[in-house]
Amino acid sequence: MKNNTSSTCLNYTHRGDSAQPQAVKTSPAHPPADYCPHCGAQSIKIELMPPSHTHHSAAMCSQCGAFRRWLAKPENQLERNLRRSLIERWLGDPRLSLSEWERQFLRSIQEAKNLSPKQCEVFDKLRARLGGLA
Ligand SMILES: [Zn+2]
Repeated sequence: MKNNTSSTCLNYTHRGDSAQPQAVKTSPAHPPADYCPHCGAQSIKIELMPPSHTHHSAAMCSQCGAFRRWLAKPENQLERNLRRSLIERWLGDPRLSLSEWERQFLRSIQEAKNLSPKQCEVFDKLRARLGGLA
């Protein structure tokens, strides 16, 4: 005869909720880069920066005024030609007191297609000092 030991029956309770993975909702498509992230407007207005500023100008949203991007100083073919002829004149003029560094700098930007903001700044300073038709 066996002792009638009561077996402990572990009573697992299964919770009825079937945990379904939550559907990942894809947020509505981001507006293209050329639209304002704030209001979605596409049109921009250009704001000129003061001469001491690193950037030439900034593009702002024309509707809400949010900053969109920096803009480089536009330089057209005419300005490039002017720069080249000015540098030629400066380098060839023995009366101008140019340091060796300045001569090297001028030669380095003489044929450059586009100047960096820093190069523009140095060039503008030289132009203010040495003179030249704008
Ligand atoms: Zn906007």
